Amino acid sequence: MKLGIVGLPNVGKSTLFNSLTKAGAESANYPFCTIDPNIGVVPVPDARLGQLAELYNSAKIIPAAIEFVDIAGLVKGASKGEGLGNQFLSNIREVDSIVHVVRCFEDGNVIHVDGSVDPLRDIETIDLELIFSDLEILDRRIAKSNKGSMNDKSLAKELDILKRIKAHLEDGKLARSMDLDESDEIEFISSLNLLTYKPVIFAANVCEDDLADDGATNELVAKVRAFAKENDSEVFVICAQIEQEIAELEEDEKKMFLEDLGLTESGLEKLIRASYQLLGLISYLTAGPMETRAWTIEEGTKAPQAAGKIHSDFERGFIRAEVVNFKDLLDCKAYSAAKEKGLVRSEGKEYVVKDGDVILFRFNV
Ligand code: GDP
Repeated sequence: MKLGIVGLPNVGKSTLFNSLTKAGAESANYPFCTIDPNIGVVPVPDARLGQLAELYNSAKIIPAAIEFVDIAGLVKGASKGEGLGNQFLSNIREVDSIVHVVRCFEDGNVIHVDGSVDPLRDIETIDLELIFSDLEILDRRIAKSNKGSMNDKSLAKELDILKRIKAHLEDGKLARSMDLDESDEIEFISSLNLLTYKPVIFAANVCEDDLADDGATNELVAKVRAFAKENDSEVFVICAQIEQEIAELEEDEKKMFLEDLGLTESGLEKLIRASYQLLGLISYLTAGPMETRAWTIEEGTKAPQAAGKIHSDFERGFIRAEVVNFKDLLDCKAYSAAKEKGLVRSEGKEYVVKDGDVILFRFNV
């Protein structure tokens, strides 16, 4: 699961990315490491893991993770090959969703590429590049479908949707905002992997003073919020500079620092959890003396496929899953007690796994 961080130069992308990866690098027992400096694997904060690990006296905790990619260098004209534009655009094509950082802080020392701080203009600049890039893809697809559409009904239907999407983008709108209600159309547009179809979270980068009231008095943030509402996106208020400072603190110092700012959790934690939700992801948990671990699945995943996340043998030889809700287990204080109370269920192949299920898989080898 990959999220791409995009935005104009000097809006705070690298600062945000560095604090994300710093926070990630410091989480102990992490099974991945960062090879590419532009890719960071970040653990998803989950308070349940610590509680579960205590119950089982687990030697280690392995949280769920998502990948962030720092896609720097997107500038006006990128789709025409300005800078390394096309390369950056193809990096975005590989991500599942986009975190768009917009500058909502004034700072005379930090130059804005367009001379003034104006988040809506910035969003439009980036969106236009994404639209241009998508239009190229559409033109190629249209040319291809055109060839066969005379004799092939399904190609003719494709051509019709492609042209409708094209007209929509030419209006300056995003593919995401198209009204598609037939499921085959939705499936088709998803298959095109358009940049403007990807879900977006706006990270409104504000100054420290705007953090305590979540940017409520910042007019620029209000504009971004209104825009996001119209475009079915989420907004997160963040101060990249502060996040960087927080990422360097020890756990207990961090708590105090956040309290001083009037916050209960860091902006990064909020952002990571929101990204996870935006992607339709949930976690099920496994626990034992060796480790307590969160496994990432898409909502709607059935038990055998969920088991397959651990090992393909678990999926192939799946017999059943012993499932107990995290809260029930914690209330009972022990697995055996939960079992006695009848709270541990035996589920079969059709069971749809829920967020917070603690699972023990039974399988044939
Ligand atoms: P990028 O080009 O979007 O990756 O931007 P950077 O993260 O490199 O940030 C550009 C400049 O803005 C750097 O000098 C940062 O220190 C500064 N900066 C980033 N975030 C903030 C912020 O929240 N407040 C202020 N005042 N400056 C920031």
